Amino acid sequence: MYINLINLINLYQPLKTACKRKKMAIIITDECINCGACEPECPNNAIYEGGVEWAISDGNTVKGEYELEDGTVVPVSKKNSPVSNDFYYIVPDKCTECVGFHEEPQCAAVCPVDCCVPDPDRVESKEFLLERKARLHL
Ligand code: SF4
Ligand code: SF4
Repeated sequence: MYINLINLINLYQPLKTACKRKKMAIIITDECINCGACEPECPNNAIYEGGVEWAISDGNTVKGEYELEDGTVVPVSKKNSPVSNDFYYIVPDKCTECVGFHEEPQCAAVCPVDCCVPDPDRVESKEFLLERKARLHL
């Protein structure tokens, strides 16, 4: 019993640290009213109006090619299909959840209808997001 308790205590701290590091990507739900308030607040130019094509190099100085999260390598200026045609959307490959810029996601902070929400299907560590920030802001 005593040994089990010690083991549990030893496990608790790393687990607590790991959980604190976990962050979830932000997505815009279909409750978006297309007010546009979030777009200028994004430090990574990761937010686009519905129906607008996106590119890695929009709003930054990245040059050459860029490896997307799914392993695809694209020219940074390549125009990609909109994630949504109906409401504002966030490009996951460009979003750092504002890590490295702000204490909290700015899109969520300004959204009047609270439709910028964490995506439980996309959990990314703070270190991973900082690495993405570095890649997007050479
Ligand atoms: S969380 Fe930050 S980086 Fe991501 S889309 Fe919102 S404002 Fe942009
Ligand atoms: S601030 Fe909210 S409601 Fe307005 S465009 Fe952005 S996600 Fe949509």
